[in-house]
Amino acid sequence: GIYLDYNATTPVDPEVYARMEPYFKEYFGNPASAGHHWGWAADNAVQKARGQVASLIGAKANELIFTSGATEANNWVIFGLISKLRNENPYEPIHMITSCVEHSSTMKAMEAAQKLNVEVDFLPVNLYGQVDPEAVRKAIKPHTKLMSFIWVNNEIGTINPISEIAKIAKENQIYLHTDATQAVGKIPMNVTELGIDLMSFSGHKIYGPKGVGALFIRSKDPKVQINPLIYGGGQERGLRSGTLNVPAIVGLGFAAEICQRHLYTEAARLLSLRQLLWQKLQVAIPGIRMNGHPTERSPNNLSVTLPVKTDSLLSHLQKLGVSTGSACSSGAMTVSHVLRGIGLNSDQAQSTLRLSLGRWTTENEILRAADILQNAIPKKIV
Ligand code: PMP
Repeated sequence: GIYLDYNATTPVDPEVYARMEPYFKEYFGNPASAGHHWGWAADNAVQKARGQVASLIGAKANELIFTSGATEANNWVIFGLISKLRNENPYEPIHMITSCVEHSSTMKAMEAAQKLNVEVDFLPVNLYGQVDPEAVRKAIKPHTKLMSFIWVNNEIGTINPISEIAKIAKENQIYLHTDATQAVGKIPMNVTELGIDLMSFSGHKIYGPKGVGALFIRSKDPKVQINPLIYGGGQERGLRSGTLNVPAIVGLGFAAEICQRHLYTEAARLLSLRQLLWQKLQVAIPGIRMNGHPTERSPNNLSVTLPVKTDSLLSHLQKLGVSTGSACSSGAMTVSHVLRGIGLNSDQAQSTLRLSLGRWTTENEILRAADILQNAIPKKIV
């Protein structure tokens, strides 16, 4: 089969796996064990990983807290800030701004926040899936405490104007959080230069292991303060207790190092493969449409709406690892809120495929995938 679902997850790079392995075996120590070399070895490995991840995103090592992934980090930002603010002043109103095309881990957490009497605005997006910075500015209220916007959309690949939004957040002294799960390792970034306050991401989207990720928390100008999500033994500067998952953290660190080493060449390679795929599909399937921004998009993502619903194609697509724009949950079709957010109707969303390329995608695979898709479309439609 041809795996074109790298936005869902990536395989662990064999080099990453090799670096992780000793930390399951001879270097099994607890980094909190300060009295012996088993502990020191583990602690050194964690420190090294923190530096590798920091370097990829332009942060300082002490600004990173390891989490179980982006879902945890997104939830933590929202609830950690609410609890901090409520501790300080239980009666002060709290307002947050986000968009209608966020990953469910932000969207559902924001909905849960509304039940805690937090006022949340879910801003609409343009037809490409981008938030308008001027709309963000207009949505600001005296009690706005957080803005949270996805950097690169996981379904349609669109890049949000995070740098402009960061300026607005800074002018108004409001924390800016971004879910950069699909941006890290794919587009160059420097969180310090951009003035981002909080940023979530995950290991398994960058050829590291699943179940590990990080939250970047700016340490000064301003120092960002949120309450811990998990209390306990005081690991991670007391912000995220629990014995560290050392092998996974080592894996995340080395995965970040590899991404940084090849960032520009890999982005260029993926972009040209994606353009080839889109060129082939446009010729092969009349009426096909690309979703998301034509240029302001992740180099690896191609979201297309076909002239036919995807459920009718699935038997032809078994050799193709791709994602669809709708999910069948207990017989009822649930249409992606992202596709709805960019104005697709239910039929169009049900005709949408996400093809996402990655480190092991070859030109040959792209040509074969285009053929498979062409052959899957009923001829009377073509
Ligand atoms: N945010 C985005 C944009 C994602 O693509 C994903 C993974 N699909 C997540 C958050 C959640 O990441 P994880 O499952 O690793 O917590």
